[in-house]
Amino acid sequence: MAEGLLARCRTIVGDAHVITDAATMAPFMADWRGRYSGRGLAVVLPLNTAQVAAIVAACAAAHVPIVPQGGRTGLVMGSVPDTSGAAIVLSLRRVNRIRSIDSLNRTMTVEAGCILADVQAAAGEAGMLYPLSLAAEGSCTIGGNLSTNAGGTAVLRYGNTRELCLGLEVVNAQGEVWDGLRGLRKDNTGYALRELFIGAEGTLGVITAAVLKLYPAPRAALTALVALDSPRQAVELLGLLQARCGAALTGFELMSAFCLELVAAQFPDLPRPFEDCHPQYALVELSSNESDAHAHGLLESSIGEALEAGVALDAVVATSNKQALDLWRLREHIPLAQAAAGKNIKHDISLAVSRIPDFIARADAALQQAFPGCQPVTFGHLGDGNLHYNVAPPAGESHEAFLGHQAAVNRIVHDLVADCGGSISAEHGIGMLKREELARYKSPVELGMMRAIKAALDPLGIMNPGKIL
Ligand code: FAD
Repeated sequence: MAEGLLARCRTIVGDAHVITDAATMAPFMADWRGRYSGRGLAVVLPLNTAQVAAIVAACAAAHVPIVPQGGRTGLVMGSVPDTSGAAIVLSLRRVNRIRSIDSLNRTMTVEAGCILADVQAAAGEAGMLYPLSLAAEGSCTIGGNLSTNAGGTAVLRYGNTRELCLGLEVVNAQGEVWDGLRGLRKDNTGYALRELFIGAEGTLGVITAAVLKLYPAPRAALTALVALDSPRQAVELLGLLQARCGAALTGFELMSAFCLELVAAQFPDLPRPFEDCHPQYALVELSSNESDAHAHGLLESSIGEALEAGVALDAVVATSNKQALDLWRLREHIPLAQAAAGKNIKHDISLAVSRIPDFIARADAALQQAFPGCQPVTFGHLGDGNLHYNVAPPAGESHEAFLGHQAAVNRIVHDLVADCGGSISAEHGIGMLKREELARYKSPVELGMMRAIKAALDPLGIMNPGKIL
């Protein structure tokens, strides 16, 4: 049976694009964080939508599961197979053409395997902006971004990937092609199928192409780092900047002092913007479609007002592109510094922005009581209510040993998130990693509707089995 399917796959995509030897398959099986490796029957690399459809139809006929894979930068073990060795990994890497750019409609149509950075660059060459931006942008793909509804650093102004997509082309679980590549901003013609596939983590079908929204490229962008005494002050500063700057406020990231200490220890060459250490920091980005002078005026007057009103302790405004990049590098190096220092217990949560200070205070206190000396590594896209609330062991203790407390730490953090009306996955998704947590925190009604959708669209259960549900 397997040999027959593999022979069919070779006919569809060519011998060179069906990988079956273990060593060549290994990188496609490994989770980005290196915590897990699955096993697969083969890795298949189609070139276009027709080949994807033919492969899916062949797998459906043989009842063989499919794991769609993009850049494999997902953080919840969604794009790697389980250890049964039964599934085909369908890598979209070669399905990577930019099909068209429509400047007047402000859209671009791209294939799922396009790397995010390449899409940003193509939009830039056309004088426009594709605003999705995240630290994995050099490796992650548009198909992966859509399937995880990725967030990133510009959600505050432009929304998640869902808000950046006007149309999809999808190969369904039967191997049929749904051409929903409409670049329409209004289309009320029944069920919103597009929305089902976005964020579905490959469990309902394979996204092969998308129509993405483009925006005018801002004429000026300014970055500032603001020192704060507490998360509450960060939320107050966010409110003040939103009131003063409106849509010009495009980024607002929170970083605790401990995060910047980690970065300073692991990356001593990065700048230290303040001589003194402060409890919290906000990285603020302002964009203007008018001019540099407009952006400067707005940022400086707003931060001046925040300092006078006691909503900030100190601030550094970048005066060159290099300084702005350096400030962003502090934020982007936090995950790298964490990884270099040792493994942490990670959470990607969201809450109403107003509830974040209370959540941080309660979670810090509960963890100190349960694990005295443990070190919360708290940072994230505060403007979107999204925190990466990670927990490192007490100084001097083994990171590996501390991972043994993962279940207990998760329970403390996720119970509090639920109590505060938040979500246990803000932007990374569920994959295999948070499947049990999802079952615990979603209501039976919600889980029942999700299962009904899955059963209707994928009755054989071949699309990325074991993920989400
Ligand atoms: P993969 O990891 O290959 O796949 C992710 C999921 O999508 C899997 O379930 C897979 O089966 C499915 N999938 C992939 N392609 C398709 C397709 N064509 N059709 C159907 N299903 C498909 N995420 C954020 O949201 N915000 C961040 O700020 C952020 N920062 C990150 C920083 C770093 C350093 C890293 C490593 C990751 C970060 N991520 C972030 C997570 C990750 O980059 C995103 O989830 C990204 O969107 C995944 O894209 P990918 O192409 O790598 O997808």
